[in-house]
Amino acid sequence: MQIDILTLFPEMFDGTFQHSIIKRAKEKGLVVINLYNIRDFALDKHKSVDDYAYGGGAGMVMMIEPISRCMEHLKSKTQYDEIIYMSPDGERLTQKVANRLSTLKNIMILCGHYKGIDERIREHLITREISIGDYVLSGGELPAAVLTDAIVRIIPGALNDETSALSDSFQDDLLSPPVYTHPYDFNGWKVPDILLSGNDKEIKKWQHEQAMERTKQRRPGLLED
Ligand code: SAH
Repeated sequence: MQIDILTLFPEMFDGTFQHSIIKRAKEKGLVVINLYNIRDFALDKHKSVDDYAYGGGAGMVMMIEPISRCMEHLKSKTQYDEIIYMSPDGERLTQKVANRLSTLKNIMILCGHYKGIDERIREHLITREISIGDYVLSGGELPAAVLTDAIVRIIPGALNDETSALSDSFQDDLLSPPVYTHPYDFNGWKVPDILLSGNDKEIKKWQHEQAMERTKQRRPGLLED
């Protein structure tokens, strides 16, 4: 899979993509992540990428030309399945959305900044808009990193134990059951005995009950879906 990210601040991704599961997925050749600096596609010698909003009001707006030029450049080399704009008013990112996107071959992700991007980009150049929640961040970089992480970790082979992703919260509309590790007894706080019983069938049953219980208590809406 190839994920091309368009941003004004490529350095913001440095840490995120160089560790843990994403790093391993890149090393295994499961995903190629490219960062493109929109400023490199600016028209003028000052490398302008934003301007005042028509009609006035506070905040700068990202201009069409640099973004459009960057997209054209990329589209001449790659056929994209989706061109995504990270936006607080987009479709909410859920596990289902991430699952579906992880099956695609090439996606482009555009990060906005400041007041956002010229509306005409959204109308004519974007195929999908995704929000990571009902709050506003300074830029689309963190949301794009969140989306990328959610997608990459479920590409088959990215996680060491393939079944691990399946038992995560939301995969089957259930929250994850509690998990424990050594020591068995910490200051009298003990691990549930069933987990030490060695009875795989009973353990699975207990985990399912716990997942149901947790979902009922914390996110009953998931069970109705
Ligand atoms: N004026 C816009 C917010 C701009 S925030 C509005 O009120 O809708 C600047 C950029 O951050 C946006 O262009 C978007 O790319 C990104 N962003 C901020 N919050 C986000 C969220 N919850 N989900 C996805 N992207 C977000």
